Amino acid sequence: MEIFNSMTRRKEEFVPIEPGKLKMYACGPTVYNLIHVGNARPIILFDVFRRYMEYRGYEVTFVQNFTDVDDKIIKRANEEGLTSQQVAEKYIEEYFTDAKGLGVRPATIHPKATETMDEIIDLVQTLVEKGYAYPVPSGDVYYRTLKFKGYGKLSHQPIEDLLSGARIDVNDEKENPLDFALWKAAKPGEPYWESPWGKGRPGWHIECSAMNRKYLGKTIDIHCGGEDLQFPHHENEIAQSEAANDAPFAHYWMHNGFLNIDNKKMSKSLGNFFTVRDAAAAYGYEPIRFFMLSAHYRTPLNYSAESLQQAQAALDRLYTARENLTFLAQNGADGEPTEAEQAVLNQADDFRQRFDAAMDDDFNTADAVSVLFEVVRAANKAVGPDQKPTKAGAEALLKLVLEFTDVLGLLYGKEEESLDDKVEALIAQRQEARKNKNWAEADRIRDELKAMGITLMDTKQGVQWKKD
Ligand code: AMP
Ligand code: ZN
Repeated sequence: MEIFNSMTRRKEEFVPIEPGKLKMYACGPTVYNLIHVGNARPIILFDVFRRYMEYRGYEVTFVQNFTDVDDKIIKRANEEGLTSQQVAEKYIEEYFTDAKGLGVRPATIHPKATETMDEIIDLVQTLVEKGYAYPVPSGDVYYRTLKFKGYGKLSHQPIEDLLSGARIDVNDEKENPLDFALWKAAKPGEPYWESPWGKGRPGWHIECSAMNRKYLGKTIDIHCGGEDLQFPHHENEIAQSEAANDAPFAHYWMHNGFLNIDNKKMSKSLGNFFTVRDAAAAYGYEPIRFFMLSAHYRTPLNYSAESLQQAQAALDRLYTARENLTFLAQNGADGEPTEAEQAVLNQADDFRQRFDAAMDDDFNTADAVSVLFEVVRAANKAVGPDQKPTKAGAEALLKLVLEFTDVLGLLYGKEEESLDDKVEALIAQRQEARKNKNWAEADRIRDELKAMGITLMDTKQGVQWKKD
């Protein structure tokens, strides 16, 4: 399979460090408010990549952090009269509510910055000892950016350009404007940890380097995140990790494109965002997931009410097919699959190959979804009104459809309608018809139920039913 590597800017054959294993890291949210639909894009896509790699037989260790100490969290805590830990805990819980709604499985490990403090301090210490970092009198520690030879290699920016673009701030403790904080001295009222440089807290970039080393080792297979993280965050992670470990940090870098709204990045700072919570209240969670799969992860994707309605309609088609096949698997004819059913089943390997080929081509979920719909259309046709569907055929077709929806993590939103629900619904329709003196329709429904093996009994307590 091939993955587009942001580092080399081309598709490369994926070769794991250890055969059959995948070590993957994604930069997770800073937990100070509800996630918006833009934040959901990487979360959903990385979940799909992970599921696909598991389906291909990899044992995946997927680490996604929570940044739970940060200026924005502290600000929020002061506004709400809470501690920053309380704010972080609250929004971690909210994160899991949304992630579950979106069909995103918890990562293998969700480390928190506050629980990785020893490793963070160790790593800063190593960088100081190796001359890649320097403490200053205020108690901050900075990374000596110009000492790291590969600085700029991920974002493909020559150091001269970075230097001329760097903001010269009033902080004259830095040796160079490109240097960034590994450790920040505590200001009054802020949470702090004891360190060799006094009371303080980590800068943002260092936690990812520390967590990678702690949970995945010096070199990992895939590091992912939104494209806005390439610079400076990922560039800084590389500088920290490679300088400390003397080993390449990640073999593949994957970055998702932006979710836009009116062709502008959806972001908190622009105020043009919808929280996942609000979007889910209006359209449901699962259509948001489906919508994200409808485009390749590296292309920009435009958010609109219409696109979510389209996602709803597409999902409805999948649900209807599942319901229909489930019903026929219980109520179809006995015996071997029909010729029409068998013809679709004979194509199963071909469908699988095309689905895998799409996903193997840098996780082309859009093409994979097209293959899923081809399977569904073919299955629907094979058990259509002009056919005589069999239990065996419908069951095998259902299994085939679910193979693909499972890998993509779809059809988790609605429990399968049980036979009981279906019968109750038909009985209610029949009562309605009788009330309207539509005897023909009432009889038709009675016959439909009869064909399902259900006998109705009109009793004083209302209509009762039994299976023949
Ligand atoms: P932020 O809320 O900006 O800290 O972003 C958290 C994560 O969401 C990062 O991985 C970002 O790259 C990603 N992200 C934020 N906004 C968008 C967007 N509009 N489209 C895609 N990814 C985004
Ligand atoms: Zn990170």
